[in-house]
Amino acid sequence: MRHEVFWQRGKAIGARDKLAGSLSANVVIIGGGVAGLTVADELVRRGVEDIVVLEARFCGAGASGRSSGFITPASELGVSELRRRFGDDEARMLWDLAQGGCDSIRETIERYKIECGYLPADSLYIASDESSFRVIEEEHQARLALGYASRLYDRSDLPQVIGSTSYGGAVRSGQTFAINSFDYVRALSDRLADRGVRILEDSAVTAVSQDEVRTREGVVRARSLFFCLDHAAGSIGIAPGETYHAQAFLMISEPLDRKFSTRSFPTAPSSSGTRISSISISDSLRTDGFWSVAGSCREPTHARDEMTWPRCITS
Ligand SMILES: Cc1cc2nc3c(=O)[nH]c(=O)nc-3n(C[C@H](O)[C@H](O)[C@H](O)COP(=O)(O)OP(=O)(O)OC[C@H]3O[C@@H](n4cnc5c(N)ncnc54)[C@H](O)[C@@H]3O)c2cc1C
Repeated sequence: MRHEVFWQRGKAIGARDKLAGSLSANVVIIGGGVAGLTVADELVRRGVEDIVVLEARFCGAGASGRSSGFITPASELGVSELRRRFGDDEARMLWDLAQGGCDSIRETIERYKIECGYLPADSLYIASDESSFRVIEEEHQARLALGYASRLYDRSDLPQVIGSTSYGGAVRSGQTFAINSFDYVRALSDRLADRGVRILEDSAVTAVSQDEVRTREGVVRARSLFFCLDHAAGSIGIAPGETYHAQAFLMISEPLDRKFSTRSFPTAPSSSGTRISSISISDSLRTDGFWSVAGSCREPTHARDEMTWPRCITS
């Protein structure tokens, strides 16, 4: 059995400069994942110059280069739950914000002509059995009530969409897509470097003060600092020590034959999520004979300073 990140398999990650000595900059961004690079891109677009990105390992080393790459506004909270908790106006605002993130990634792919396996793919929110169909129906009604397009499938419709009789129904929505998230992040970092952003890798920040960021080998003074880190932020003193990351993702990818994947997704490409275990399936890699499956569980697996990097396991 081999343990590796599927997206990174066989890819050489070119070495970039690391921070050494003393620098000054207008802006320092800490973290070279999709968040940090998106901030850098936005600043470049607004005409800000002299930007430094400090990344502990390499851009895409964190969740962004390991994600399943399903770009959807859906989180563990569906529209119906958002309505229940926050009311219609705020629910719409939150959903539009998340959809805006998806649109921004699509727009960045187009603007920079990024090759990252971009595949438009509708999303399915699936009832794992008949008894949870009512939840799916409620989600469908909530989406319609807020003015979003939505299509409801009952148990008898679903086999035509996913080729399976095992589920209780689904809600389908559009404007979603799949990407190779590692390729996206690497290409975005290259484009930013071409536009003059100094991207320094292998440069883990060890301490931060008002206008100064330190690594083991250097220091950058800057007028503005952006923190685009994950739960590691506790270790450099910018988040409370008791911050916990309480979610785990599992990604499994294995070669499947074309017949199987065509049978399962006979019509349009789609990605799907079950309500109970949040398992998502995409045929975005169908042309390569791979599928990716991702799921989240409710068990907390990250304690502070104890990170279990998600890995792809192949055999
Ligand atoms: C297995 C998996 C599947 C997922 N699937 C999906 C999906 O299908 N769709 C979706 O939308 N989201 C998905 N996600 C979530 C998504 O990947 C993350 O929400 C997103 O990538 C977070 O981006 P980020 O830039 O905030 O964090 P990261 O990509 O983690 O970036 C943070 C960066 O900070 C760096 N760093 C850490 N400490 C320091 C330091 N001291 N100094 C400098 N740099 C530091 C890290 O090396 C890292 O590169 C998935 C996540 C995982 C793990």
